[in-house]
Amino acid sequence: MNRVYNFSAGPSMLPLEVLEKAASELVCYGECGMSVMEMSHRSPDYEAIINDAEKMLRDLMNIPDNYKVLFLQGGASTQFAAVPLNLIKRTGKADYVVSGQFSGKAFKEAQKLGYDVKCIATTKDDNFDHVPVITKDMIRPDASYVHICFNNTIYGTKYGYIPDTGDIPLVADMSSCIISEPVDVSKFGVIYAGAQKNMAPAGLTLVIVREDLLDYAEEKMPTMLEWKTMAENGSMYNTPPCYTIYMAKLVYEWILDMGGLEVMKARNVEKAAVLYDYLDNQNYYIAPVKKDSRSMMNVTFVTGDADLDKKFASEAAKAGLKNLKGHRSVGGMRASIYNAMPRAGVEKLVEFMKAFAEANPKN
Ligand SMILES: *Cc1c(COP(=O)(O)O)cnc(C)c1O
Repeated sequence: MNRVYNFSAGPSMLPLEVLEKAASELVCYGECGMSVMEMSHRSPDYEAIINDAEKMLRDLMNIPDNYKVLFLQGGASTQFAAVPLNLIKRTGKADYVVSGQFSGKAFKEAQKLGYDVKCIATTKDDNFDHVPVITKDMIRPDASYVHICFNNTIYGTKYGYIPDTGDIPLVADMSSCIISEPVDVSKFGVIYAGAQKNMAPAGLTLVIVREDLLDYAEEKMPTMLEWKTMAENGSMYNTPPCYTIYMAKLVYEWILDMGGLEVMKARNVEKAAVLYDYLDNQNYYIAPVKKDSRSMMNVTFVTGDADLDKKFASEAAKAGLKNLKGHRSVGGMRASIYNAMPRAGVEKLVEFMKAFAEANPKN
């Protein structure tokens, strides 16, 4: 077996220990004589799996008791619609911060539903090279919620602070930074995330929602999008993404075993520093993101020459460093270095970058 270092933004690397554990249980889970994939979601064996997954996540993220944890389907993109449909009835309007492509899509989705939504800040004119500073006076006092994307996967930016929205619930798309470091859940009304970046294979969407926010759903609401229904049914109103939840549980266990999110954060800080320190001390590559908005999970850089960028990604792939091509909308390179990427992978990438710069002088 020859595993590569996979820098894909998502679906992305999973911890090798998790994959091996899953493989060892693939055909026969414990004593039950069948695979997790074959189990009824109502069976005691499966109930233990989903209950453990929730318990472990609550432990890992220190989720307060007045928050519900939902294991859903449809991806983060489905939540772009579910968020307004579940919350807008509080006041009839909502505020959005557009700091990249996904937050832009979330804003458009709410607009498409015909709601009174306002973009209160955007860094579009700066090519999204940083996240906006949000202050209370920018927010409409009667907004139902304020929506942000906490880590911008495509541009490689992240909030270095939690915006203070006062009594107005803060809703955050955390798809690409969830469980990468501790976060004070009580500062948010809703946190949601697609699993395939940092948590599990694709197919699972996590929603963490404060209980008092479950009472504002639209009346003509598709049942599958209604958080309250899902909460009342323990995420089992219908068949949940059973196997992906099991995989998420293994990932939570992997982090808990290493000491939790403080330890995970220390590893991630160190790992990202290997790459950023190199970028800051050379002049071949350009890192476009402003320093105070840098993401620990997605690191973007360019050579300044589109042909060289292309050559970089293709030669890196040949050297076992896969999926370094930037998002199709921005070009350049992007190294996604989520929890499962070992430090050795980032070190190998830096070695490759040095060798490439030497072998390909710019005119
Ligand atoms: C990948 C991503 C999405 C889209 O997720 P899907 O699960 O594919 O719908 C949304 N927001 C962010 C921040 C992402 O990184």
